[in-house]
Amino acid sequence: MDFRDAPEEAAFRDRLRTWLAGRAGTFPKSGDEYWSRSAQWHRDLYGAGFFGLSWPTKYGGHDLPAVYDVILDEELARAGAPARPSLGYLVEGLGRHGSEEFRQRFLPGMITGDERWCQGFSEPGAGSDLASLTTTATLEGDEWVFHGHKVWTSYSDVADWCLLLARTDATVRRHKGISAFVVNMHQAGIEQRPLQMINGVSNEFGQVLFDGARAPADHLIGEAGEGWALAMTVVGHEREPSTLGFSARYGKLVRAMAAQVEGPPPAELLWAAVETEMLRLHVRRRLSERLDEVVHGPAGSLDKLLMTWTEQSVGHAALAVGGTRDPELLSAYLYSRAQSVMGGTSQIQKNIIATRILGLEA
Ligand SMILES: Cc1cc2nc3c(=O)[nH]c(=O)nc-3n(C[C@H](O)[C@H](O)[C@H](O)COP(=O)(O)OP(=O)(O)OC[C@H]3O[C@@H](n4cnc5c(N)ncnc54)[C@H](O)[C@@H]3O)c2cc1C
Repeated sequence: MDFRDAPEEAAFRDRLRTWLAGRAGTFPKSGDEYWSRSAQWHRDLYGAGFFGLSWPTKYGGHDLPAVYDVILDEELARAGAPARPSLGYLVEGLGRHGSEEFRQRFLPGMITGDERWCQGFSEPGAGSDLASLTTTATLEGDEWVFHGHKVWTSYSDVADWCLLLARTDATVRRHKGISAFVVNMHQAGIEQRPLQMINGVSNEFGQVLFDGARAPADHLIGEAGEGWALAMTVVGHEREPSTLGFSARYGKLVRAMAAQVEGPPPAELLWAAVETEMLRLHVRRRLSERLDEVVHGPAGSLDKLLMTWTEQSVGHAALAVGGTRDPELLSAYLYSRAQSVMGGTSQIQKNIIATRILGLEA
């Protein structure tokens, strides 16, 4: 396997580096600033031709191999720029389960950043056990009407649209009664309640209450009862480090910490360096497999665990190097705690590995 850039990849990398160099010094310095400027960042990246690289041109992408996304991740991290907007799982969910008409209507705005999205899956009583969700959707005339309570909804306060899971049939088996919808977030019947994170960030996610919010009948994705399949596509992609592009950032933070340590580095930092490099190579291998059209299925849970271990090792290193004196390193540690929860907890990944890969019985 040759991980070096091909000539056209090297040319792309150079062009990107030049663009980023021209913006040096303008990048956000705090979590709140990062989130408040994320929409503009998305549009700037897209406008300069650096976003949606591996998605189809007919929806606004560039139809390039996925390795270009990795080059983008590496160069953004290297320049200290904000990360690539994390939307791959929504593009995959809508792309695979929506009709062509749906894709043409919604994917371009999602990819350009002109329309912002959130993912309304989790509820106060339905996280790991997502199939127990109780938000309802009822067809009244030619409109769906929604009632329920979603929580941990990333970017809900700035979203134009929500990819919402709701129960349309309470009489069939739990998974079978769930449907997926596109719901306009700018309407009466939707109440937003902010949530503050442990690292102080207050505009990353919130709670969303639906009390009579509506969507046209044709905003149902696929058929009624097919929401579970869409949810599995979405969470499958949410678990892939190559889709999320965090790997380069972990490496950058490890190198920055190494440069700041005087004397022998703490063991936590050495271990973080090993795990970061392991994840980098793993992501490259997964990308090569993707180019060969290998489908991973439940193996995505291994990726998610690996990514969690790496982020949390980097977090422990941040605490060892900066203690509670360095707000940026402390924030990196605190945020790393969320990685074993978001996109499905580590315990759930282990259950999937045990039952679906190792064939163990519960
Ligand atoms: C930063 C962040 C962003 C998020 N963004 C979104 C978003 O945009 N949209 C969205 O819908 N959700 C989002 N989530 C929610 C996330 O998907 C849920 O938090 C996650 O699925 C866990 O659900 P829960 O919080 O209800 O925990 P619970 O399911 O209540 O789990 C509590 C504990 O019990 C354990 N547990 C539960 N069931 C089992 C079992 N069967 N076997 C072993 N252990 C078990 C869990 O591992 C965990 O340790 C986000 C979460 C975070 C942290």
